[in-house]
Amino acid sequence: MTAKPQEHTWDLTPLFPSPNDPSIERAINEASASAEAFENAYRGKIIDLNAADLQKCLREFEAFEEKLENISLYASLAFSANMTQPEVQTLYDRVSKLEAKLGKQLAFLSLELGGLVKGKPEIIRDPDLSTYRHMLERVQRRVEHQLSEVEEQLIIEKDQFGVNAWEELQSKWLNTRTFTVKVLGEEKTLSYGEASGLLPHHDRETRESANKAIYGTLGKDGEVFSSALRNICNDWVNVSIRRKYQSPMEASLVNNDTEQNIVDNLLNAIENKAPTYRRYLKLKAKLMNLPILGNHDIVAPLPNAPELKFTFEEAEALVTRAYSRFDEEYATAVKEMFAKQRIDAPPRFGKRNGAFCASYYTGKSAFILDNFAGTLNDVYTLAHELGHATHDYYASRSQTRLNTSIPSIVAETASIFGELLLTDLLLEEARSAEERRQVLCMVLDEAGMTAFHVTARVWFEQTLYSSIQRDEYLDYKTICSHWTLARDRIFGEAITWFPEMEAEWTMKPHYYMANYRFYNYPYVYAQMFVYALYERYLEEGKAFVPKLKQALSAGSSVSPLEIGRVVGLDVAAPEFWGTGLKVLERFIEDLQKIS
Ligand SMILES: [Zn+2]
Repeated sequence: MTAKPQEHTWDLTPLFPSPNDPSIERAINEASASAEAFENAYRGKIIDLNAADLQKCLREFEAFEEKLENISLYASLAFSANMTQPEVQTLYDRVSKLEAKLGKQLAFLSLELGGLVKGKPEIIRDPDLSTYRHMLERVQRRVEHQLSEVEEQLIIEKDQFGVNAWEELQSKWLNTRTFTVKVLGEEKTLSYGEASGLLPHHDRETRESANKAIYGTLGKDGEVFSSALRNICNDWVNVSIRRKYQSPMEASLVNNDTEQNIVDNLLNAIENKAPTYRRYLKLKAKLMNLPILGNHDIVAPLPNAPELKFTFEEAEALVTRAYSRFDEEYATAVKEMFAKQRIDAPPRFGKRNGAFCASYYTGKSAFILDNFAGTLNDVYTLAHELGHATHDYYASRSQTRLNTSIPSIVAETASIFGELLLTDLLLEEARSAEERRQVLCMVLDEAGMTAFHVTARVWFEQTLYSSIQRDEYLDYKTICSHWTLARDRIFGEAITWFPEMEAEWTMKPHYYMANYRFYNYPYVYAQMFVYALYERYLEEGKAFVPKLKQALSAGSSVSPLEIGRVVGLDVAAPEFWGTGLKVLERFIEDLQKIS
């Protein structure tokens, strides 16, 4: 007898029927053959290509990438959904090795492309390459940080079984531990996903227990996590020096297609407005009948408010309606994601925690991994991830594959916009001041986390590197003190913290992603950018709809600065970030009026 499949899990069969299916073997062989053919045709020759031949070369590379994508996507999605299943582990391991091998084999492309645009910068402007113009401009910016082919290969090899393994270790640690939490007075043994799902629980003691269980348990292995982080950061310092980056943040600026001064303006604007955020936290304390909020209250729902619970079907209906109200056609991707079973919703043991949306270019769609437990927060997460799917939907229809490597600062546009559409719907249909308060607090909690809490993480990461530059040893307690200092710059006197919360940084998977440093400020950028965008929508109404679609359809074919211009915003203006923060202030004023 076979077990009945869990409801609302994703259907990966459009990719492959099963982890052992022979079609996987065939696809692996095809991708390998395609890589070999590409290598034979172009290795050593790119530097001499004319514009028309370069266009042909890039098209062929895109065709290879499309072949590899389905295998990579299938292996990583199957693994994220069932990390303890042996045949999935085997496939994931095999595909990771394949990716490393093919990546190494084709590393010459970006290298030679760099050489080409360095030697013949005028080729970037050639009409034959207009599709790839901005992609080539980004290559030009990267070229000064490129190393020789052998060095690039060595980095891939050393990372594969070296620094990349820390990420796997942290993820496995989180997903194989159990946490003892008192849920409404009853002691329960829970997975990490289940325990962290209780952090915004309506019962204050349950929240306290969940916080202490999670961060207390993480903190016990603090030296393990600090070993990981210390080595990852030191590795990055070495790599940054080798690659001639002026700072450990520069690689991220290049990847995000943005500039240091824009990010500095952003972080300063947030620090200047931290008192506004604290004003909200104090208002929330009043609404919760507390003299001051504890850290376990920051994202808590308001007490005595009826706990809003949603079935997955209700969440589907709400999010679909929120998107449809903005524009019927804009909701197409959302509807498809449900209809084609592209979402893996329920939390379970051995499944990756959190939520993500993985783009599925050849299917002009996406897959969403979620841990849906039915809270209002979960509905927001769904609205968010479906925004990513919407972005993938538009970009994959208008852009060739190389123009869909969307930098994070723009990649969050549709997701956060989707959250605001949901907010709009919920506020409009709120049946009481109480429900309205609940939604406003939810939005402000989320914005507080994304804009303010995440800014603390940027400062934290900056401090780790300045600490290394001062020859300071990053042991567990030192890292914790860097975290708490950064955190307090945002929260000031508005919050009291459990001592266990010094370990808060240990759970963040991004810190353990070896070549993904400064993942954080793009979230702050995106949040503030989208708030400014939303203001524009309120001003322009329906006339704004095509502009947003145009911005999403642009993928990475133009710079984020240019995308701002498509919707009528000047991100580089020093006062720009104030616009988004005004939206936040208005939400707080609204809340004050009904408190
Ligand atoms: Zn996102």
